[in-house]
Amino acid sequence: MPETKRGDFFDDLETMPSEKRERYFKQKLAETIDYAYHNAPSTKEILDRAGVSPSQIRTIKDLERLPITRKTELIELQKSKPPYGGFLTIPAEDVDRIFLSPGPIYEPLHIENIKWFAKTFFAAGFRKGDIVINSFTYHMSPAGVLFHEAIRDCGATPIAMGVGNTEVQIQTMHDLKVTGFVGTPSFLMTAIKRAEEMGHDFRRDFAVRKAWFTGEMLAPSLRKSLEEDYGISTAQAYAVTEPGGCLAYECSQKSGMHFMDEYIIEIVDPETGKQLGPGETGEIVVTPIHNKTWGLIRFGTGDMSYYTTDPCPCGRTSNRLVAIVGRAGDAIKVRGMFVVTKQAEAVFSSFDQISTFQIVVGRKGQRDEMTFKIELKDEAIDKSQLTNDLNQKFQEVCRVKADKIEFVAKGTIPEEHKTILDERTWE
Ligand SMILES: [Zn+2]
Repeated sequence: MPETKRGDFFDDLETMPSEKRERYFKQKLAETIDYAYHNAPSTKEILDRAGVSPSQIRTIKDLERLPITRKTELIELQKSKPPYGGFLTIPAEDVDRIFLSPGPIYEPLHIENIKWFAKTFFAAGFRKGDIVINSFTYHMSPAGVLFHEAIRDCGATPIAMGVGNTEVQIQTMHDLKVTGFVGTPSFLMTAIKRAEEMGHDFRRDFAVRKAWFTGEMLAPSLRKSLEEDYGISTAQAYAVTEPGGCLAYECSQKSGMHFMDEYIIEIVDPETGKQLGPGETGEIVVTPIHNKTWGLIRFGTGDMSYYTTDPCPCGRTSNRLVAIVGRAGDAIKVRGMFVVTKQAEAVFSSFDQISTFQIVVGRKGQRDEMTFKIELKDEAIDKSQLTNDLNQKFQEVCRVKADKIEFVAKGTIPEEHKTILDERTWE
């Protein structure tokens, strides 16, 4: 039953009309840039080097004038200017908590700035009365602590469980009539399967009805099984540790992840840093505008995605990331569009007739030329039908069309091969 006390939304930001959001972002961006410039030496250096004054960064578009800071650079900066790489904006003794992400990267955070995080759990349906296993709290990891507090902020009761010891998890789920799960989809499925091996009928004997996932791709088949076979409503969120949290989250519509209004999210061409439009695949670049302690501007996540501005029936008005399609390092630009290895693989693997394939990108005159080389399981199929279907699907997903499709004899494509072979030379 949806709770009515707070309404359907966690805060007013979620339903801002677009003009109001634009004003909100402008104001927050100006405050963030000004504050970071005057308090974080590395942010000042980045702007000075780009020849840009803080007053010149007033709109999201203006951010294009600043370079993207990537994880490797952040690690280097933290080594040369320990411990925060020159991005700390407040006295070190005022830092409320420090997050660690692999690198290591140290991220300072202030507690007054984390209430918003609960939005993602709220959108997933967590409310007062829910008892929630938080499997990210292994040894109370930073994310686990944040999630714990956010679950509480929705009114629900978290259990700090961590992962592993599946039998104890199952017993806890059973004894405490746990209704919610926070963790990875694979771990939840492991627990369900184990419960079944122990003789339980999971749907009948357990009360788990909602789950919130991050940190792992949720395969459509796994989602379908959790939802339909086990009656668990699932929601995913996109979280990145360096900029301090959750950048986007699903609502009950489960069709894309709403941008979190505590960040400015850009989808950019990773080579030029220029912003891309709706539907165009590019790197997710993020500027936190809620965490004053951390002057990180334009952090490049390395994740490739695309977004939609289509209205969402849930009533939230922010844009949505449609899917995380792969890593920037695995993407190749073809006629201005990024083709991401994983995305291409997903298209080809949806055709049973294909046994092996390779995408070859070459150059003909001033134009990129993309060829699909395909080995078939059975030569006797309707090749023109396959050509049409494949072309259509590929274009739908990657927004760029093959110039040629070559059906080659079995064994032509070497066993060890790159999915996308870039044969272009640039002189
Ligand atoms: Zn929605």
